[in-house]
Amino acid sequence: MATPAALVPHIVLPRLELLSDARTRGAECVWGGERLTGETAIDLGVHTDNGFNWFPRACRRCTRSAVRAARDTHPARCTDCKGPTALCDTRQALHELLLELRR
Ligand SMILES: [Zn+2]
Ligand SMILES: [Zn+2]
Repeated sequence: MATPAALVPHIVLPRLELLSDARTRGAECVWGGERLTGETAIDLGVHTDNGFNWFPRACRRCTRSAVRAARDTHPARCTDCKGPTALCDTRQALHELLLELRR
C-alpha cells in the first residue's frame, strides 16, 4: 500500500540521525522498528536529507497513529483551514487516509 505522496510532507517522521540503517532502508518500520514485508509495509516515499536519500516504510499501526496526529494538529498550523466547519483539502485527505488505514 502506498501513502498518497501529497500527504507525506504533513506526516512527522523521526529524525534521520536517530534511525538505524534498517529503518532508513525501509526494512523495518520507521517508527516502531517492526520487521516489514512487501505485503504489510506502507511506503512513505523517498526523502532527501543533506543529499542523502532514504526510503522510509512503516507498519499499518504506526502509520495510523502518525496520520491521526497529523490530522489532529494540522488545522492549528494551516492558513487554509478556517475552523472546524471549513477544513482544507489536505485536512480532508488526511482524514480519509486515516479511515482507510482503519480497515
Ligand atoms: Zn510500526
Ligand atoms: Zn488545512
